[in-house]
Amino acid sequence: MKPEILEFRTLIEGATSIAVVAHERPDGDAIGSLIALTLSLQNAGKQVASILADGVPNRFRFLPGTDDVQRTFPTDCNLLIVLDCSDVERTGFEVEDLPRSVDINVDHHPTNTHFGVVNIVDPHASATAEILFGLAEPLGLEIDSRVATNLLTGLVTDTIGFRTTNVTPQVLNVVARLIELGAPLSEIYERALNRRSIIVARYWGYGLLRLEQEDGLVWTSLTLEDRQRVGYSGKDDADLINLLSTIDGAEVTVIFVEQSEGAVKVSWRSRAGLNIAPLAEAFGGGGHHQAAGAMIAGDLEEVTKRVISATRGILKSVTESRR
Ligand code: 5GP
Ligand code: MN
Repeated sequence: MKPEILEFRTLIEGATSIAVVAHERPDGDAIGSLIALTLSLQNAGKQVASILADGVPNRFRFLPGTDDVQRTFPTDCNLLIVLDCSDVERTGFEVEDLPRSVDINVDHHPTNTHFGVVNIVDPHASATAEILFGLAEPLGLEIDSRVATNLLTGLVTDTIGFRTTNVTPQVLNVVARLIELGAPLSEIYERALNRRSIIVARYWGYGLLRLEQEDGLVWTSLTLEDRQRVGYSGKDDADLINLLSTIDGAEVTVIFVEQSEGAVKVSWRSRAGLNIAPLAEAFGGGGHHQAAGAMIAGDLEEVTKRVISATRGILKSVTESRR
């Protein structure tokens, strides 16, 4: 057994009150990984609190175990586990508001800063949920149907329905095993990826109207006013970026979502062979080679100008090096 997994096991055995936290503006992998680990530790008799700074968005409330998610930490916590976060700030909590320093960091982002005492970071994993699946046996944790459902949600959403280049035969073997353990694949796919409200469709409409294209670059923005007009309660792009990235010729897709705090949430997607994670990092964010994001201070117009100019630069240098 790898020493870090042994350490993980020892830390769990010694803990009486565990807090597990995943990233702000949580996606399916953050929530699925969080709930899966929480439930399997609870099944092993541990006292565990699931924490998300932003709570659980409506579309993931179908997942078993999401009702117990809290927005604040228990005061008596003696083990802190952070999931699917490339840096500690990604939890959405100020470092001084965490109940203790991070004991265990489990993640799959290549930009992970190894901020835990124990760091289990595998950038080749398609999702944090895939890493947790592999940890269950060595940690002595059982995967029941509720745990399997949450893990499969992480895999389905982070691979955008098995469309990303990191989907290996091994990933599909994990999927097969999770289905055998009781995870309903078609229901998860439908609810977590396919279904959307009329509000979201109208919100997308505003973004689609403003679509811009220049060579291999496709981008658009969503404003605070758009959200207000359609009544969208989230602060994100409602996954419009995944639709934009299907456009022919879009080597890099960027979306700008205006925030009320004088900031803009930027998301990038790129085709295989074009790594945009360093660009997101340069803007204070992070992510994967093909999917990255950052929260950037400034107004919509100014941030758009800066980011499009930098992205154009990356795209140009990559296309020139291919010649
Ligand atoms: P999205 O753009 O869909 O929010 O996220 C795409 C990827 O980039 C995800 O893997 C996510 O974890 C990462 N990411 C998005 N925003 C941030 C950010 O502000 N900071 C960091 N470190 N990673 C981010
Ligand atoms: Mn993830």
